Amino acid sequence: MNQFQYVRPTKPQAAIDAVAKDANAKFIAGGTNLVDLMKRGVMTPQKLVDINRLPLAKIETMGAGLRIGALALNSAVADDKHVRAQHPLLALALNAGASPQLRNMATVGGNMLQRTRCSYFYDLSMPCNKREPGTGCAALEGVNRMHAIFGASEQCIAVHPSDMSVALVALDATVLVSGPKGDRRIAFADLHRLPGTTPQRDTNLEPGELITAVDLPTNAFTRHVHYQKVRERASYAFALVSAAVALDIENNTIKAARLALGGVAHKPWRLAAAEQALIGKPATEDSFRQAAAVAMQGAKAFKYNAYKLKLAPNALVQALKTAAAA
Ligand code: SF4
Repeated sequence: MNQFQYVRPTKPQAAIDAVAKDANAKFIAGGTNLVDLMKRGVMTPQKLVDINRLPLAKIETMGAGLRIGALALNSAVADDKHVRAQHPLLALALNAGASPQLRNMATVGGNMLQRTRCSYFYDLSMPCNKREPGTGCAALEGVNRMHAIFGASEQCIAVHPSDMSVALVALDATVLVSGPKGDRRIAFADLHRLPGTTPQRDTNLEPGELITAVDLPTNAFTRHVHYQKVRERASYAFALVSAAVALDIENNTIKAARLALGGVAHKPWRLAAAEQALIGKPATEDSFRQAAAVAMQGAKAFKYNAYKLKLAPNALVQALKTAAAA
C-alpha cells in the first residue's frame, strides 16, 4: 500500500475543506471498500480524511419522514425500530448485503458510494476506463457475466453493487450533501450516474462534497414489501440480480408501487414504467408478469450475461408475489 497522510477532523466543515482543497484526498468512514482498493493499488489517495468523529450517525424522525445520518452503521439502520416499522424494505435490503461483520463496520454513506466489483477494475494488468480513463474496457469482450443489461456504454458496462441503494431509490430517498459551495439535496435517483463517456465518475457529487444524511419520506409501504436477491452463495456475495418491491394494495387492487432492480446497471435501476403498469391492476401473477415485461424493455445483454434477461424479470415477479402475500 502507498504511504498516505491521515487526518481526523471533528467538524464537518474541516473535513470538507480538507478534501476540497486536495484532489488526492478521500473521505474514509468504515473503510470496507476503500481499504481493499488501496491494498490492491486501484485507488491511491495521498490523504485520508477520517470522518468517524463527525456527528452524523443519528437516525431520527423528521416531520413527515425519517433522517438517517451518513455515519449510521448498516447494522444499526437495519435494526432501528423506526426503519423496521416505516421502511421495512430498507431493512430487508441492508440485511441482504455483505456479512454481519461488514454491516457492523460499513456506514450508510459509504454503502452508497462503494465502487463496482467488476473484476477488471480490480486487476491492474487489465485495461479499465473506470480505473484509468482512456485505456479501454476489458469487460466488453471479456468475461462479462456479472455486468450490465441496462444503461451501459461503449466505455463501461459495470454495475453498481449496493443492495441498500436499490431500496433507497425505490423509496424515493433524498441525499443531503454539504460541500465547498454549501448544502444541497439530491434525489437518490440522481446520485449515481450512467457511465457514458466518463465512467470514472460513479456519482454526481462535486469534489469535496460530503454526504451527511439520507431522508426517507413517509409512505404507505409498510407491509407489502420484499427484497429478492439472487446470488451465487447465500452467506455473502454481490447480487447477480436483485429486486426491491413495495406495494400499496387495497382489496387486492394495487394503489401504488415502487420497483427497482440491482445488479443490472451502473446505478440502482428504478422501474417507473413498470410501476405505472401495476396501478389499478389486481395483485396477481399475470399483472406482475406484464409489469416485468415492461421493466425489461430496452435491456441488452453481452456475451456472457444473457441469463440476466430471464433472471431479472423472474426475480421481479418473485419479489412481487412475496410482497403481495406479506
Ligand atoms: Fe472497467 Fe467498467 Fe470496463 Fe469494468 S466494465 S473493465 S469497470 S470500464
